Amino acid sequence: MADCNQKGLSLINLLIPPKIKEIKISEVLPCLTSSERIRIVGSTDESLSDLLPILYLYLPQSTYSRQSDSVSFMYEEHLITVFGAGKITVSNLKDRDEARRVLEYVRDLLNRASIYLSQCGNPPQELVDSKPKVSPLELNKFLPKKDCGKCGVFTCYGFAVKLALGECNPNDCPYLKGEEAKKLRKKIHTIQI
Ligand code: SF4
Repeated sequence: MADCNQKGLSLINLLIPPKIKEIKISEVLPCLTSSERIRIVGSTDESLSDLLPILYLYLPQSTYSRQSDSVSFMYEEHLITVFGAGKITVSNLKDRDEARRVLEYVRDLLNRASIYLSQCGNPPQELVDSKPKVSPLELNKFLPKKDCGKCGVFTCYGFAVKLALGECNPNDCPYLKGEEAKKLRKKIHTIQI
């Protein structure tokens, strides 16, 4: 299940129109942590419930609440919550431009999850219930330990922390190629989308 037809997914990605065409900003509110920042509520007309388990399995540090039908995760310094009814909240934003950029990231994730769903179906409940924890210490073992900064982070361990948060990609390290990068991706994402 975790490797469901990945080669096919990238081809189909080019052929299928995206499920989520737009996420509109429906509310702009003051951020709870800083008066200089804003939080926003975004909305789409699509139901997202079926995509939530897929997002949860793909995003390493996310949390999934069946009760509130939502998945929450951090991206950069923003707490993002995606609700099954089509609402998306994002905190700690500088302005609307930053909000639009972050919502584009969420839209891309949702569209990739939608392609996964159409190709692989709903992930089994056991997989959702047994998602392994991703530890930066564990990921660091796979890194080259050169501390060269070419990935945009000063140290390999710093890069491992960002990988564990799902904020960067093994390919951002120029020394990680082919099988090594693939192995690391499997450690980070329970499923690939
Ligand atoms: S580019 Fe690779 S080797 Fe260099 S610091 Fe980043 S993870 Fe370490």
